[in-house]
This record gives sequence, structure tokens and C-alpha cells, in this order.
Amino acid sequence: MASIPTATVSRLVTYLRILSQLDEAEVTRTSSEHLAGEAHVSAFQVRKDLAYFGKFGTRGAGYSVQTLRQELMRILGLTRPWNVAIVGMGRLGEALAVYPNLARYDFQLTSAFDVDPAKVGREVNGVRIRHADEIPAAVSDLKIDIALLTVPSEAAQDAANALAAAGVTGILNFAPTVIDAPPGAYVEPVDFLAGLKRLSFYIQRSKAKEATT
Ligand code: NAD
Repeated sequence: MASIPTATVSRLVTYLRILSQLDEAEVTRTSSEHLAGEAHVSAFQVRKDLAYFGKFGTRGAGYSVQTLRQELMRILGLTRPWNVAIVGMGRLGEALAVYPNLARYDFQLTSAFDVDPAKVGREVNGVRIRHADEIPAAVSDLKIDIALLTVPSEAAQDAANALAAAGVTGILNFAPTVIDAPPGAYVEPVDFLAGLKRLSFYIQRSKAKEATT
């Protein structure tokens, strides 16, 4: 796995979304050209990304949508359910807890944690909020694989360490701070403000260019 570029993994997720949309529209066959057009990459890139994992499709006949979708689900580890916890049940944690698309790919919300006594014991979307001190026991009992980390920045590293020590192997970090991946865990950052800052950079540059032409 170590030799698969991160960008390839990101594009596989995009190809899967496109294939799911084709499948929903009852389209049965597709091509690297079509996937490339929808994903805004070249057909060569699509074929190269898929080639890391074997041979798919038939030259000249393209791919079966359902078969390629199933293969991508398998490659991405999405053919099995993952038990998910939310750590930090504030505004963002609560919003994620009721997001219906989590379950669509079998990400099953099995637990939620907070440190605020006013939140501990409440139920959100059928899940009881537990105190963060219960993380070690709950991770083991509920076999939690992945945590959505929605705590304030200053609490993120300690919470990630506690989750990994308890056996959580994937952490999606929403706190706007870089955390070190604890031993045995992968950490993926999600930062929508960083996206806004990148947009601001591109818009500003294009406006400056317009002004000089
Ligand atoms: P919030 O203050 O509403 O909620 C944070 C919650 O974390 C609170 O309920 C608090 O009691 C709890 N908490 C604090 N320490 C904890 C710990 N050690 N263990 C468990 N729970 C703990 O904040 P919010 O608006 O929901 O934002 C949550 C985080 O997400 C912040 O870091 C914020 O900057 C970030 N955020 C990220 C994005 C994004 O796109 N990535 C968007 C908005 C907010």
C-alpha cells in the first residue's frame, strides 16, 4: 500500500462517486475517457490509477459500471462496515451525527464522546453521548475502527492519542491543527477554512490579472 500515491487514492474515491452516479442512472458501461471527463483528469491518468490494482475492463469495450464500482469498493475497503465514533459533540459533531450519507457507505455511527457534563448522557440520532474517559472501554467493546475528531484544536492531539491507544486505527481530524499520527493510526485532516483560503488566493490572482489586461 505504501507505494500507492495519495493523489491516486483521492482519485479512486472520485471515480467511485462517478460510478455510483452512473449506476443510479442505470448506465451499465463506461470508459476511461468518460470517467476522465467527469473527474477532470486524462484518460491516461484513469488507466494508470486503476493499473496499480490490476487489470480492469476490456480494450475497446470499456468497463462494466457495476463490476468496476464493486472493485473500487473492495480496493477502498468499503465492502465491509466500519464502526465510527464522534469525539466532540459540539456544533460540528452533532451535525455529523445526523448526516445521512455516513451510513450509505456502511460507516456506522456506534458511539459519541464529549467531556461536557451537560452533553454526556444525551442521545443524538439514537447514539448516547459518553464521557471521553470511557473511550478505552468503549473502543474495545464496540470495536470502533474510525473516529471523527471534532474537538477544539487544543484538545485534538491528546484525544487522538487516547483513541489510538485504545485501538482506533483511523482518525478524521476536523480540528484546524496539525496532529502527529499516534503509533498504529492513520490521521486524515479535513479543513474547509484551508479550502476557502486557497479559493481566496486563486480569485485574488484572477482579479489582479483581469485588472492588468
Ligand atoms: P464546539 O465548541 O461546538 O464543540 C466542541 C466539543 O468538543 C464541545 O462539545 C466540547 O465539550 C468537546 N470537547 C472538548 N474537549 C474534548 C475532549 N478532550 N474529548 C471529547 N470532547 C471534547 O466546536 P465546533 O464548532 O463543533 O467545532 C469543533 C472542531 O471542529 C473545532 O476544532 C473547530 O475548529 C473545527 N471545525 C472544523 C471544520 C472543518 O471543516 N474541518 C469546520 C468547523 C469547525
